[in-house]
Amino acid sequence: MDDIPILDNHIHLKEQGSGLEGAKEFEKAGGTHMVLVNLPSWSYGISLTEPDDYRKAFQKTVSLAKKIEKNLDLDVYPVVGVHPAELTKWMEAGRSLSKTIKLMKEGLRIARKFVEENKAVAIGEIGRPHYSVDPKIMNRSMQIFKFALEQAKIAGCPVQVHMDKLNSENIKDLKDLVEEVGIEEKKVIKHFAEPAEMDLKEFNYTASVTARKQNINKLDLCSKKPFMFETDYLDDPNRPGAVLGPKTVPRRFKWLLNQDKIDKSKIIEINKKLPEKIYNISIEL
Ligand SMILES: [Zn+2]
Repeated sequence: MDDIPILDNHIHLKEQGSGLEGAKEFEKAGGTHMVLVNLPSWSYGISLTEPDDYRKAFQKTVSLAKKIEKNLDLDVYPVVGVHPAELTKWMEAGRSLSKTIKLMKEGLRIARKFVEENKAVAIGEIGRPHYSVDPKIMNRSMQIFKFALEQAKIAGCPVQVHMDKLNSENIKDLKDLVEEVGIEEKKVIKHFAEPAEMDLKEFNYTASVTARKQNINKLDLCSKKPFMFETDYLDDPNRPGAVLGPKTVPRRFKWLLNQDKIDKSKIIEINKKLPEKIYNISIEL
């Protein structure tokens, strides 16, 4: 597989976790490109008190991406944003709702600037809690989600969306929001996607499918819905290997290739042609 690009579309790495070592594992398994997504602020030990705290978190991701590129034969594309769980996290910590929302919006403006300064290729993870919350919190989350999409529209970049599993009901929420803001549908990347979500015809988003074997077995590799694979590796020492380890995406492509379930041109379509179009990048070996 040496001559084929392999991209993990949603992986987290941090210096306090495996950092460069995690990237090394990905490379050793055959990975060549990664979309490195910023973690929620508290994952870096940051106790959010001012907008600049987000800048510090984003900068950690950007610096690690540079370090990986310097030390390994990998291309790393940072994605920065304000995770939807920030709202419930800081509420539980007894913070003020209005102040937290203000900070999150400031953080999203900073994320936009990172994209405008070419330090990041997209804004993410943004969205709404995937778990059930107080309707008031959900309402506010949707407002922040909209604000995040507006920042992406200004920067002209895609977004990585974290939200509840899509179905024929809630997909309307997403579609309406995206239409209202006026972002191209395919620039909306649904992270943590499962094959069942891809059958929804209402909205032509891009799916970032968790590379579990059961997902890949169910996935129609010829689906018209654009898709990439991800691990959502959390790089959390307390949850080793969660969600999937850094070697998973290259291993799955090898497995698919060995089983004759996929050919090289399809792998190139998923790992090069699509991400090039979505992120406006150039994927070379
Ligand atoms: Zn994630």
